[in-house]
Amino acid sequence: MGSAVTTSNHAAGSPYPDEAPVSQALFDRAKGIVPGGVNSPVRAFNSVGGTPRFMARGEGPWMVDVDGRRYVDLVCSWGPLIHGHAHPAIVAAVQAAAALGTSFGTPTQGEVELAEEIVRRTPVEQVRLVSSGTEATMTAIRLARGFTGRSKIVKFAGCYHGHVDALLAAAGSGVATLGLPDSPGVTGAAASETIVLPYNDVAAVEAVFRDNDDIAAIITEAAAGNMGVIAPRAGFNQRLAELAHAAGALLIVDEVMTGFRVSPGGWTGLDPVDADLFTYGKVMGGGLPAAAFGGRTEIMSRLAPAGPVYQAGTLSGNPLACAAGLTSLRLADDAVYKRLDEVSATIGALASDALNTAGVSHRLSFAGNMFSIFFTDAEVVDYDSAKTQDVAAFRAFFHAMLSRGVYLPPSAFESWFVSAALDDAALEQISAALPAAARAAAAAGGAQS
Ligand code: PLP
Repeated sequence: MGSAVTTSNHAAGSPYPDEAPVSQALFDRAKGIVPGGVNSPVRAFNSVGGTPRFMARGEGPWMVDVDGRRYVDLVCSWGPLIHGHAHPAIVAAVQAAAALGTSFGTPTQGEVELAEEIVRRTPVEQVRLVSSGTEATMTAIRLARGFTGRSKIVKFAGCYHGHVDALLAAAGSGVATLGLPDSPGVTGAAASETIVLPYNDVAAVEAVFRDNDDIAAIITEAAAGNMGVIAPRAGFNQRLAELAHAAGALLIVDEVMTGFRVSPGGWTGLDPVDADLFTYGKVMGGGLPAAAFGGRTEIMSRLAPAGPVYQAGTLSGNPLACAAGLTSLRLADDAVYKRLDEVSATIGALASDALNTAGVSHRLSFAGNMFSIFFTDAEVVDYDSAKTQDVAAFRAFFHAMLSRGVYLPPSAFESWFVSAALDDAALEQISAALPAAARAAAAAGGAQS
């Protein structure tokens, strides 16, 4: 894939300089038969406008769309692809597994090996494999309720844990991106069992435990990544564990986004916490659908068939997903994590420099190698402060980067995700795109007053 990036397709008068005719035609076809034309909301570009790019292929740090344009990928399938696209070892592992049969509905060796790798890297003693992060958090909640015999759940505004009814209240990710109110279809009964508190606010958690004696669990993102990236304040996660345990409740730390990405053991590897249950996804599937939840044997053994709390899945522990995930994890050695840290620091600094030069107010916010740029002056510690950003400035920045061959998350409320495959050519392309994008953000209103 040595082709030059097309940057000269600027349609006169269009607010979106690089229209994409083949993507547009596919999007039009899709919209007739798929709600909104996409199978997951943030893909639709609703918050940035313009035509979502339909991708045709990927290699290392690059993606190529159906119009033949090539992009440096800073979304990485929303996190899973720490080794970039189509890593030869992962492709070979999936091909080898597929040749042996795609699914059996019986236990397989790959599941045991993937579970062992997760247990080796994390504090969990037992783990159950599922197919999506949503399933993992949904079942962790059920298990916490089954274990404690209580019903209420505490979550934090702007944290997203998948589209579980009880967890959609004040959620981040697409719910934040689209500015949606809490979703219709979630019953009052489901919502009434969820208490939503501001992120990073220990006093609010203390107060809630003073007023409630029927809390089953607190669930928190290990580090918030779905309202943009906001790291927990020092000691926040561990304080949640202490408060939960003092009240006979559990702490569920959701590592679906951070797990195996920000360190070999996830965020917990950087910021240890005595949580009771952890959820994983994304990286552990190597780009195929795999996720997990785990914890102490005392709790996990309540799960069917060992115990009475029911959970099941036709494709859980799918052989192709296990092969991809295991290979992805085995490739993820110290050198890979060092590279992820280096490239994220480099890209963040390059972007911040360009924005400073253009006079654009912003905050660069890291959690390990995940980061976001908030287009705001305000210190960003929670969902309210994240929402102070100038979304119009982000939108202009996004499109200027896209038209110069850099694919950013199409939302101001998401993490940028790097891969260890980002090489000098990819970094050069990002660096070359940034000054004009920063100027576009300034022109759209992000300039300092
Ligand atoms: N939890 C977190 C922290 C996530 O970021 C996500 C998805 O982005 C989920 C859960 C849900 O995972 P999935 O999209 O695989 O259902």
